[in-house]
Amino acid sequence: MTLPNRILMGSMHTGLEEEKGGMEKLARFYAERAAGEAGLLVTGGIAPNRAGVVAWGGSRMSSHRHASHHRVIPKAVHAEGGKIVMQILHAGRYAYTPFCVAPSALKAPIGRFKPRALSARGVERTIRDFVHSAVLAREAGYDGVEVMGSEGYLINQFLASETNLRADQWGGDFERRCRFPEAILSRMREAVGEDFLIMYRLSMLDLVAGGSNWEEIERLAQRVEHAGTNIINTGIGWHEARIPTIATMVPRGGFRFVTKKLMGAVNVPLVTTNRFNDPATCEEALAEGCADMISMARPFLADPHLVKKARLSRAKDINTCIGCNQACLDHVFKRKVSSCLVNPRACHEGDFPVIPRPEISQSVEDRGGKGGMQLVGRRIAVVGGGPAGMSAALERARLGAEVVLFERQAELGGQFLLAQRIPGKFEFNETIRYFQTQLSYLGVEVRLGVAATTNNVAEFDEVVVATGVRPRKLDIPGSDRPEVVSYVDVLNGRVEVGARIAVVGAGGIGFDVADFLTHDADDAGFMASWGVDTSLESRGGLAAAQRTASQREVHMYQRRPGKMGKGLGKTTGWIHRNTLKQRGVKQWSGVSYDRIDDQGFHVTLEDGTSQVQAVDHVVVCAGQMSFVPEDLIHPNLTVIGGAKDAKGLDAQRAILEGMVTT
Ligand code: NAP
Ligand code: SF4
Repeated sequence: MTLPNRILMGSMHTGLEEEKGGMEKLARFYAERAAGEAGLLVTGGIAPNRAGVVAWGGSRMSSHRHASHHRVIPKAVHAEGGKIVMQILHAGRYAYTPFCVAPSALKAPIGRFKPRALSARGVERTIRDFVHSAVLAREAGYDGVEVMGSEGYLINQFLASETNLRADQWGGDFERRCRFPEAILSRMREAVGEDFLIMYRLSMLDLVAGGSNWEEIERLAQRVEHAGTNIINTGIGWHEARIPTIATMVPRGGFRFVTKKLMGAVNVPLVTTNRFNDPATCEEALAEGCADMISMARPFLADPHLVKKARLSRAKDINTCIGCNQACLDHVFKRKVSSCLVNPRACHEGDFPVIPRPEISQSVEDRGGKGGMQLVGRRIAVVGGGPAGMSAALERARLGAEVVLFERQAELGGQFLLAQRIPGKFEFNETIRYFQTQLSYLGVEVRLGVAATTNNVAEFDEVVVATGVRPRKLDIPGSDRPEVVSYVDVLNGRVEVGARIAVVGAGGIGFDVADFLTHDADDAGFMASWGVDTSLESRGGLAAAQRTASQREVHMYQRRPGKMGKGLGKTTGWIHRNTLKQRGVKQWSGVSYDRIDDQGFHVTLEDGTSQVQAVDHVVVCAGQMSFVPEDLIHPNLTVIGGAKDAKGLDAQRAILEGMVTT
C-alpha cells in the first residue's frame, strides 16, 4: 500500500470562501478530509489582490485581517494531523470583473471583459502581491502555498506567446516570458524562508493553439525548481481549451503520461492529476513511475475518507466521484456553494454531524442527522431502489431504524442503471455499488423483484415512497405505432433500433440517447478523437481531431426554439453539443409534431414548412412523469424524489431528498 502521503487533495473552489461564516465551514470540511488521511490538502484559489479575483467579491489574501480569518482552517487541519497549503490564484483575463488585468489587452474567448494590460509597475506590484499573499498565508498558519501557474490564469497568460505580446522585459522570447513566474517564486522563497512549502502548478499540456511546446515546459520546470519550488503539480488544459480534461468520458488517470514525460527532468517531486478517482488507478500510475504523488480534488468531495478506506483495503466502501460536475463545478459557476451529487453532505458537514457508531464497520460513514440516533426502534419501508430510495434507506438505517427496501426490478439502481449504459457514464455503476455495500453493512433488508403493496407495508411505522418517474409518452397521431419506442427500451437493449432515428426531446436524456446511438463514430479513442497529441511534440499538445460521422442518421427535435442543450450543465454541456455535432447529428428546434405514418415522422419546422423524415424508429425522450402506485396506502407515507416532483428532477436532488429525514 503506497497511497497514504502520496495522495494530495487538489485545489477546488467551494463557494464557502466567500460565504459569511464560511471559514468555519471550510475548517470543518478540510479537517474531515485530513482525518480521512489525505497526504496534503490544497485550498481553493485565493487571489493575491483585487484584480486577481475570479469573480466579483472573490476571496483574497492581501491583509492581516484576511490572514486572521483563515486561521481556523490550518488549525482544524493540524488538529487532525494533516497539512494544508493555500493556493494563490490570480485570474488575469479570466476574471469576471471589469477590473481584470493581463500581460496584454486581449480578451479571452471565454472571458466577459477585455483586460487592461499591466504596466511595468503593475507587473512589479502584482509580483509583490503574490509574495505578500504567501507571507500572510504563513501568518495564518498554513504549511505552504501553491502558486497557480496553469489552466490559463495570469501566469499562464504571461508564458504563452499568444497572450503575451509585451515588448518590455516581461515579454518576448520564452526565456523572457518565464521571468514573471520566476520572479514570483524566487522573491517568495526569499520572503517566506526555507521551511515553508512552495508548490507550483505548471501547465504541462495547454491544449490551446500557441501553447508551450515540450522543450519549453521542461525548461520552465527547471527554472521553477531553481527559483525555490519544492513540489511541481501538473496542470492540464486552459479553461478555454475545447477538449474535455476532467469530465467522465476522460479515461481514468488518462493524462498521467504527461507528468511521466517530465519525471527525471527535475529534482523535486512531481504530482500528476486529472480524473483519478479510485485507489487502483492511483497505485497503477505510481507503480508505472508516472509521478511521485497524485492529486485528486472532486473525489474528496464524494468521499472524505477515501485514502483511509484504501489503506484499510476497503476500496469497495468508497463513494466514488463519477466526474459529473453537476453539484461541484456547475454550482461554482452559478455562484452557489458547491457540494457533491453522490455526497450531498460535502461542504454541508455541519448539517449532518458525525456520531460515533462503533458497532458498525469503521468504513461506513458513521454519522447521523441533527438529532443523532433518533430513529432507533422504528421500522421503515422504503419503496423504490433508485438513487432517492437507496439514499433514504441508507440514511434511515444510519439513524438507527430497521429498514426494508422494496424494489420491483431484479436490481437496485433505478435511473442509474440506464445512465451507466451511456458511453462515458459507466461511473454511475460505482454509485450503485457504493449504496449496495453500505446498505448491506447497515443491515437493510433489500427485497428485489417485490412490488410494495398496502398489505406488505402495513407492519411498518413509516413508508418512504421513492418510486421515481415514468417516461412521458408522445401523444400525436401514429405515436402508438411499433416503431415509436421509449428511451428506456432502447437503453435497456429491449429494442434494437435501425439506422435512421428521430429522437423526440432534447433534454439531458435526449442528448444521452443521441450519444448512445452514435457512439460508433468514436472508435479512435478519447485522445485521438478529441485531438490530443500524446507524443507531446506539437505546440499546446494539439493534434488534428480524428472524428468521423456516425453510420446512423440521427435527427433530434424539440418544440422550444433556440439552441439545443441549454439546460445541460455549464461545464459539460459544450462537450455533449460538440460531440453530437461532430458525429453529424441533425438538430431541429422550434418544431411542432404532426404525425407518424408509413412515410416517416412528419413535423412543421420553425419557418412553417412541412418536413417528413423517413425513419426506422422514433425514440421518445419527452421528459418524465411522477409515478406513485395508487394502491399503496399507509397512514404515515412520505413521497420523495421524482415520485414527488418530476420537474427538473436530477440525481442530485433525489439523493439529497433521500437524506432529509424530518
Ligand atoms: P428534460 O431535461 O426536462 O427534457 C425533456 C424534453 O422533452 C425537452 O427537450 C422537452 O422539449 C421535451 N418535451 C417535454 N414535454 C413534451 C411533450 N409533451 N411532447 C414532446 N416533447 C416533450 O427531461 P429529461 O431529458 O427526461 O431529463 C430528466 C432529468 O435528468 C433532467 O432534470 C435532466 O437535467 C437530467 N439529466 C441530465 C443529464 C445531463 O446533464 N447530461 C443527462 C440526463 C439526465 P420541448 O418541450 O421543447 O419539446
Ligand atoms: Fe464528483 Fe459529480 Fe460529486 Fe462533483 S458532483 S464531486 S463530479 S460526483
